Amino acid sequence: MAYIALYRKWRPGSFKDLVGQEHISRTLSNAITSGRIGHAYLFSGPRGTGKTSTAKILAKALNCEHGPTPDPCGECEQCRKINDGSSMDVFEIDAASNRGIDEIRDLRETVKFAPVDGRYKVYIIDEVHMLTSEAFNALLKTLEEPPAHVVFILATTEAHKVPATIQSRCQRYDFKRITVEEIRERLAHVAAEMQLDAEDEALTMIAVQADGGLRDALSILDQCSALAEGKITAERVRQILGLVGHDWIYRMTRALAAHKAQEVLEIIAELLRDGKDLKQIVAELSLHLRSLMIYQAAGTVANMDLYAEQDEVLKEQAKLFATEQIMQIIKRLHEAMNEMKWSPQPRITVEVALLALCRPEAAAVSPAAMPAAAADDSRIAQLEAKLAQVTAALAKRPASPAAAAPTTAAARPVARPMQVQAAPPPEPLEVTAADAEVWDTLLKRLREANKMPILACVQQGSFAGMTEKQFFIQFKGSLMASLTMRNYRQQLEALLQEITGRELHLSCSGEDRPMVPPPRPKAQPRTEAIPLPEEPPAIPVDLNDIPPEERAPLETAFNYFGDHVVEIEDDK
Ligand SMILES: [Zn+2]
Repeated sequence: MAYIALYRKWRPGSFKDLVGQEHISRTLSNAITSGRIGHAYLFSGPRGTGKTSTAKILAKALNCEHGPTPDPCGECEQCRKINDGSSMDVFEIDAASNRGIDEIRDLRETVKFAPVDGRYKVYIIDEVHMLTSEAFNALLKTLEEPPAHVVFILATTEAHKVPATIQSRCQRYDFKRITVEEIRERLAHVAAEMQLDAEDEALTMIAVQADGGLRDALSILDQCSALAEGKITAERVRQILGLVGHDWIYRMTRALAAHKAQEVLEIIAELLRDGKDLKQIVAELSLHLRSLMIYQAAGTVANMDLYAEQDEVLKEQAKLFATEQIMQIIKRLHEAMNEMKWSPQPRITVEVALLALCRPEAAAVSPAAMPAAAADDSRIAQLEAKLAQVTAALAKRPASPAAAAPTTAAARPVARPMQVQAAPPPEPLEVTAADAEVWDTLLKRLREANKMPILACVQQGSFAGMTEKQFFIQFKGSLMASLTMRNYRQQLEALLQEITGRELHLSCSGEDRPMVPPPRPKAQPRTEAIPLPEEPPAIPVDLNDIPPEERAPLETAFNYFGDHVVEIEDDK
């Protein structure tokens, strides 16, 4: 039996099936009914919101044998060919991989000829903002004098990168993010049609995680139905998505409020031992704090719910923080998420951030909300500040040859186990024909072995090249990248070894445009003052000489960095 991924199977077939974009389907339907068909459309909006689907519907609406009609039949030869991508009159061009002038020149050549068997020639250019400026110029010439039988549909997630000269020749349609509720409803509909037994909470959780993208949501439902026997429960979804879960996040929030640094670190350690993803932990913590912030402001999080919260917990925890403090924490967590991407030791980055947040003065709390400040607090604060300095310095320092294996990020991408690679090849790798064959063989083997859930997942990404030791898949969003890494990495690596005869580490990137790392964040003045790389002489430290109440933070520091203690000049 041929397996079709849910997101393909449930791709909307007509304007009225489009989820969450009524403003667009109405306008386009009217235009077709009244025969006012433009020559160029610009569809902009976040990924997974239906831009490409709408482009295909529009192509069918124009070329359907019973049309032009806002309700293409989906069954005539034209409709079927457009659906399966074999129409001679509808061209899909992915500007992310065909960025250049040659493709657009080809296009300008073919534009002149009349359609083969439809009414219109439709050119769908996906990710159009990726075109080079020469290519844009060439495209502009065509848009200035379009033949009557041609319709261009340019789709982009970043409309601001499309030159104004191009934009001004297009009718622009802005696709909005699909709400959690709209996605949930659609999932419930699909689940019912597919006779999948799924808990409401499970569907909500998927809708929340899909973050406005219906395609991701359907893909996750696909994974869940393939991996779960029987009912799709919230617990199962949590496992498959590697979610941390509310109980842990609530505990961590309480510990943060009580400035219990030790407990926060213990929770992190335990979650990591359980195989949870560091990024996910920070993301969920920040989502929960966002809920607390909204709850404080509005007294409810209904309709703004991104994290399926429990009301009584919000009520209790919202009292633990001042609003300012919550904003500070969220800000710091987001900074940590950013730093993590380029940090050789993401765990330390997160721990330092959380330690800093546990300092009573860290978040400008009102004095009344603080516990009686112990005299040691300032010393602990000093230690933590040093810890932060050293971490920053370590991150700045070029990796020594001995430590090179996991950290030569600048020279060569290296997979950290169980973690989505934040920075894949610094330069796009050249994909040779032989490499591409490995990728094709991989997909073929998956298909032959009927590993459809894996295939559905992997096919959402594209092959980004390989090295002697690594195999890169590039996804458009981080969700499917982490899902692939978490659930299928072993199987995929085993298959790759079968195909190539060597051990290859899978590396999935989920960033939107990660191929070139951003410039290093500007160094803080404080960290620049640290004398590196020559190290000052070590100072002997015996933990037994340290007062017991100060030992814990020092021990933590020793665990990270070893007990090689040096004097650092303060730049105050
Ligand atoms: Zn038709």
